[in-house]
Amino acid sequence: MIKTPRNKRPFAIAGGGIGGLACALALARRGFASVVLEQARDFGEVGVGLQVAPNALHVLDALGVGERAKKDAFLIERMVMADAVSGEEILNIECGEAFRKRFGNPYAVAHRADIHGALLEGCREQPLVTLRTSSRVTAYEERGDGVTATLANGDTIDADALVGADGVHSVIRQRIVGDGEPLPSGAMIYRAVIPAEQMPKDLQNPYPIMWVGPGTHIIYYPVRDWKVFNFGATIVTGADSVDETSDAPPSEALPLFEHGCDIPLRVMRIPQSFKRYLIRHREPAENWTQGAVTLLGDAAHPMVQYIAQGAAMALEDAICLGACVDQSDGNYADAFRQYQAIRIVRASRVQMSSLMMDRIYHAKGVARRVRNSLFEGRTQEEHYDRLSWLYTAPEYVR
Ligand SMILES: Cc1cc2nc3c(=O)[nH]c(=O)nc-3n(C[C@H](O)[C@H](O)[C@H](O)COP(=O)(O)OP(=O)(O)OC[C@H]3O[C@@H](n4cnc5c(N)ncnc54)[C@H](O)[C@@H]3O)c2cc1C
Repeated sequence: MIKTPRNKRPFAIAGGGIGGLACALALARRGFASVVLEQARDFGEVGVGLQVAPNALHVLDALGVGERAKKDAFLIERMVMADAVSGEEILNIECGEAFRKRFGNPYAVAHRADIHGALLEGCREQPLVTLRTSSRVTAYEERGDGVTATLANGDTIDADALVGADGVHSVIRQRIVGDGEPLPSGAMIYRAVIPAEQMPKDLQNPYPIMWVGPGTHIIYYPVRDWKVFNFGATIVTGADSVDETSDAPPSEALPLFEHGCDIPLRVMRIPQSFKRYLIRHREPAENWTQGAVTLLGDAAHPMVQYIAQGAAMALEDAICLGACVDQSDGNYADAFRQYQAIRIVRASRVQMSSLMMDRIYHAKGVARRVRNSLFEGRTQEEHYDRLSWLYTAPEYVR
């Protein structure tokens, strides 16, 4: 393990989510010191379930925390999409031997805290990573030879460079892109955690099923060694704000999904309350970088969650940024330009592809019948071919 840093002052990383921690680890593994500035009092993750596709697992492997992450994750045997109204199966992608061979890793579902926790432990073991909580970055100043970040409590941090990994409401982004608050996507999600003992045995599948209906979709899957099920019911309401602080009773959420067939509704009737969350996103940005300051993860390319790749993109960003810094010979502005040049098309494609799934998942009328027919007759290999651009880890990850 490298103990003497290659950089004079640390990189400052605003935000200690999956992206920020992965960035700190990626830099440390190349010999660069960083300080992670997290606004919360503790490092942690909001929400429960996270799908971790093979491209994301490749990054965790490359960061040396893949085994730790996989130990707590559940490696799924298939992914299923079903019509929420008729109950018919639309898509069934096997994720067994052939899938793993094709993409070099399985497909996992996990508790978010376990993936974040694997990265956090990895950072804690790295002498080159300093972790600070209660450290909200409010501003920064670029100097000729570096960046000074200012925290909410008035402290300042002198750094060689600054990475804004501060999520969908990124403060750093406002200086670089200046595009205000992220846009409401028109959709919101009702989330819940269902203890396994409350889940009827016949509904306990070893894989996620996505129930797609007019303007809605529901997904649930087991996490934490089958102790709990992650449940999410998304609905397109057009709302531009929702109350994210109080719980929603079943009497609010259930009627919105009553067009559904028996199985998704049986699952949805179990929770006593739901958390509401407004889905926000942005259009792809032309630029994420200004001098020795750049953006990463949701700060750079927040997306709707429809193809479950936001965290995967943050992880890929991190490893790419580490590789570019490694090759930069101390010119971090160049490294960040190079990082952006490598990442922007892929991350933006994922952002755009996620949004396009709105038309597929939430189709109504004849469009729904078209959707149900789209995957008919496809072999597993044909499914894999179509997913290859997404699930094959880019060169710089492998
Ligand atoms: C409902 C839903 C389901 C999803 N499912 C999946 C999935 O299955 N698979 C997947 O890959 N992705 C999924 N995503 C996307 C994924 O959650 C995000 O893309 C990912 O968490 C982004 O990581 P990040 O580190 O960039 O940002 P965040 O996770 O938002 O982390 C940002 C961190 O920065 C901190 N912070 C914010 N502002 C400041 C500041 N000014 N100073 C210091 N700290 C600050 C925050 O407290 C936070 O800890 C889903 C998203 C949603 C909404």
